[in-house]
Amino acid sequence: EVVTRFAPSPTGYLHIGGARTALFNWLYARGRGGRFQLRIEDTDRARSTPEATQAIYDGLRWLGLDWDGEALSQWSRVDRHREAAEEMVARGGAYRCYASKEEVDAARARAAEEKRPQVFESPWRDADPADAPDLPHVIRLKAPREGETVVEDAVQGTVRWANAQLDDLVLLRSDGAPTYMLAVVVDDHEMGVTHVIRGDDHLTNAARQSLIYAAMGWAPPVFAHIPLIHGPDGAKLSKRHGALGVEAYRDMGYLPEALRNYLARLGWGHGDDEYFTTEQALEWFDLPGVGKAAARFDFAKLADLNGRWIRDSEDGALLAQVEALFAAQQRAPLTPSQRSMMAHAMPGLKQRAKTLIELVESAYYILVDGVPEPDEKAAKLLSPEARDILAKLTLRLQDVTEWRTAELEMVVRAFAEDAQIKLGAAAQPLRAALTGRATSPGVFDVLETLGRDESLRRLSAQAT
Ligand code: GLU
Repeated sequence: EVVTRFAPSPTGYLHIGGARTALFNWLYARGRGGRFQLRIEDTDRARSTPEATQAIYDGLRWLGLDWDGEALSQWSRVDRHREAAEEMVARGGAYRCYASKEEVDAARARAAEEKRPQVFESPWRDADPADAPDLPHVIRLKAPREGETVVEDAVQGTVRWANAQLDDLVLLRSDGAPTYMLAVVVDDHEMGVTHVIRGDDHLTNAARQSLIYAAMGWAPPVFAHIPLIHGPDGAKLSKRHGALGVEAYRDMGYLPEALRNYLARLGWGHGDDEYFTTEQALEWFDLPGVGKAAARFDFAKLADLNGRWIRDSEDGALLAQVEALFAAQQRAPLTPSQRSMMAHAMPGLKQRAKTLIELVESAYYILVDGVPEPDEKAAKLLSPEARDILAKLTLRLQDVTEWRTAELEMVVRAFAEDAQIKLGAAAQPLRAALTGRATSPGVFDVLETLGRDESLRRLSAQAT
């Protein structure tokens, strides 16, 4: 059985790159009937607040990346990590090192001066445990001095390190705190992880972790180190490129299915397919399809893809997403009448919006409280003459029995003809009065959506 995991450190939000890592792990496991687990690497107690952990849960849940079982807290396993370090000492794969920090620093400085690799060679490595002083100490891995460590990476290929370059790394600090390197290996092994898919900034860690696996007599997992995400300019993705937290994408009005689609394409490909469902990704995703080069985040492409997902969404599902967005942003929920108007207008609204925010923006006339206040451009369309036209048009509209787009259009056209004005001379003030804006979805659709009473109320408010 395939078992993958996502192991974020709480930083306050779910990083978009982390979300991609989570997605790849989720796709790989779930596409093979396997398990996807979540481990919160919360050993940095200052940063690991409940809110920071919650932000990771929220981000993953919003993206639809559900995990199997309970999320595991790395911190909760600290006793087990200590035990594993002691086991390693007992097996002869690790040793207690009593060298002080000053000694270690001095040895490193000496090595640097002599242009040797700055690898600390502890005098305690081969000491007789019987000679051990009763002093604070760390536990170090007894790493091989000769030969090489080889990682067969499912993305990077065969990667080699000369063992002479790898330290006897610290597993347990003198205060009893396990190091990251130890904790990850013990946890991955005991969670039954078969495939470690993560950012390639961890590639060298894989070499060190392989040595820990060997010292414990455990089989290492398959490693797959995926290239990091870069900004459009090729530099590592950072704040100056755009939002980093997944929740920011939610708040900008991206659909989770669109973001999943886009993130899946970042560094992985299936032929020329750009637009695909999660079901297809589950079927197609595989590690050989992951590229070695850094992927560039293309914000315009994400927006286009999102627009396509919006157009292809079912009206009801889209309305639910708008309501979820409002809830997430702690905006007032839709009233029943707003909801039914939104549902009615949705086929038109979704045609032009690239994000839910744009969609909500073009639904302004539905969501506004009371009669919309004309903005600057709309106010220009409501000149005294225009208000006069509106007053006459309102009288005609009052007689409309069948309040439907086609019927309404006919009435307005006939009115313009009778008054010997262009259609726009009637339709533009009409739009301005109904929506408070100079641009909106089709004005006859707007009339139908608002309904007779609300339309006439808005027109009376602006007509002279
Ligand atoms: N906690 C590490 C990080 O957030 C991930 C460690 C791993 O995946 O092995 O970068």
